[in-house]
Amino acid sequence: MTATLTPEQALKDVFGYDYFREPQREIITELLEGRNCLVLMPTGGGKSLCYQIPGLLLPGVAIIVSPLIALMQDQVDALRELGVRASFLNSSLTPEEQREVVASLRDNSLDLLYVAPERLNQESTLQLLKSIPVALFAIDEAHCVSQWGHDFRADYLQLSLLQEVFPDVPRIALTATADANTREEIALRLGLQDARHFVSGFDRPNIQYRITQKQNPRQQLLRFLRREHESDAGIVYCLSRRKVDDTAAWLVQQGFDALPYHAGLSAATRQENQQRFLREDGVIVVATIAFGMGIDKPDVRFIVHLDLPKSLEAYYQETGRAGRDGEPATAWMVYGLQDVIMLRQMMDASQGNEKFKRIERAKLDAMLGLCEITSCRRHALLHYFGEDGHDACGNCDACLAPVPTWDGTEASRKALSCVYRTGQRFGVNYLIDVLLGADSDKIIQNDHHLISTYGIGKELNGNAWRSVFRQLVARGYLSVDHATYGGLHLNEKSRALLKGEESIALRIDVQEPSSKPQRKSRSKQAVADADKDLWEALRQCRKQFSDENDVAPYVIFHDASLMEMVHYRPLNEAQLLTINGVGQSKLEKYGAAFLQVIREHEGG
Ligand code: ADP
Ligand code: ZN
Repeated sequence: MTATLTPEQALKDVFGYDYFREPQREIITELLEGRNCLVLMPTGGGKSLCYQIPGLLLPGVAIIVSPLIALMQDQVDALRELGVRASFLNSSLTPEEQREVVASLRDNSLDLLYVAPERLNQESTLQLLKSIPVALFAIDEAHCVSQWGHDFRADYLQLSLLQEVFPDVPRIALTATADANTREEIALRLGLQDARHFVSGFDRPNIQYRITQKQNPRQQLLRFLRREHESDAGIVYCLSRRKVDDTAAWLVQQGFDALPYHAGLSAATRQENQQRFLREDGVIVVATIAFGMGIDKPDVRFIVHLDLPKSLEAYYQETGRAGRDGEPATAWMVYGLQDVIMLRQMMDASQGNEKFKRIERAKLDAMLGLCEITSCRRHALLHYFGEDGHDACGNCDACLAPVPTWDGTEASRKALSCVYRTGQRFGVNYLIDVLLGADSDKIIQNDHHLISTYGIGKELNGNAWRSVFRQLVARGYLSVDHATYGGLHLNEKSRALLKGEESIALRIDVQEPSSKPQRKSRSKQAVADADKDLWEALRQCRKQFSDENDVAPYVIFHDASLMEMVHYRPLNEAQLLTINGVGQSKLEKYGAAFLQVIREHEGG
């Protein structure tokens, strides 16, 4: 029905955008010409347009397969706001609602249909789709076919039958998962061997990566939030439920709008907290990793980790939830000696065969490596995901404030030697006491005041030693025993260092520079004080529509669109249409109200 539009017109008229991003246009052409594609794009890269626009232009309904049922309602809401005829089909609908969707499919009055994989695989669904024109199949989160033990794997594997049942319908598989093996497996499992691959870089340049030493994590968090993200939406990750609850309650005391989220809360509470995070401005969710999968909120401005993730994959995925709208966002983490010891210990105690343990250990090593490096964090992250050729980024803590190092060879040898002399079974605190020559009962009882390393470390204080031990454990020069309470012992790697055959540079732990320039999101930064009133008035206007229509504010307009309105002050419909994110449908629905706000502001 919209067959007369070009992709460019659809982009402008429906979505309100002026330019395609790389490589959206090429992907759209492939689909329009009936060919299959495999798309690998980072989160926030703009995958959806790649199938939504062909779905609008091609005859018939585009079927989008996604496991993220909780997301479908919001996706469909956002599309309907744009005037797109979209619906979804999954187990959350009542039988009556499902019948309505089926009826609209039958009379060809849908452009896009989101469907859960298990639903699509049902014989009745396949029969129905065979009887109507289908524009394309988009298989989102396509990495589900490759991950062992993934909840949706079985259903995703069955999607291979699409090529047999619908040989003439183009298919596009999309994922944000990086590695080449996964891509090959997707192609194989989904019968996409002939598909052109579109692989976009993984860099998220708008995310600022910062990892800092844990001293007083709550005060550090408070300072970070107050200075940089006063009324922003963000996620704070903690490892345990207890810590989630405590941290959320504490943030509320400090005046933040913070909510807990973890698997121990009732489904209703979780749903409500997630909903508030999505629908309201400036809500902080404190969560275990249970939160985030399927959160598609574009204006998350910060991700905090109060505990270390277990792998760089997890870190990148979690931090990747920030800044999907392309505006500046911060990934901020604190970690310390205890985190390192605990994770090393957990790993050692973990069940599983040797191979599994080896992989887990390698992943943890990579995570700890990122924490301890003194060069560009982004460079290291991208390198880990197989992407080289980036220069130092200028937007991570290591680039912003180069990390000083010192020759820690001598200190490390003392530390390792002390581990050895005390029998390789004591924890860090005890070892430091010995190095500093403390006269504790325990040391006397053990006769450790008589050994050669007793009191040889007085040139450093306790904190400095803690830093030495942390770095030695993190970098694998000391192993943690899981049978004792964090007892340390030597390993293969220790030897060369102990013997003096190897030297080691250690980072000097500095507090985060207190004079770090206050960074706000570009939108807020760009709103000068004189424009604050208009900005607030526009946000208020957006909030009203968002409440009335029961959708998230960004579904009405993104912050970036409001910011452009503040800048350009459009006074009529034609001018308003030049604003990014304002298409025909939104112009009709909201144009008058927003123009009114701007005119009033200009007049007064
Ligand atoms: P992904 O699914 O890859 O994570 P989305 O499809 O949700 O990313 O797009 C991320 C954001 O970028 C959305 O807010 C979307 O509206 C915006 N976007 C996508 N393509 C364009 C474009 N060509 N011009 C402007 N904004 C775009
Ligand atoms: Zn950098």
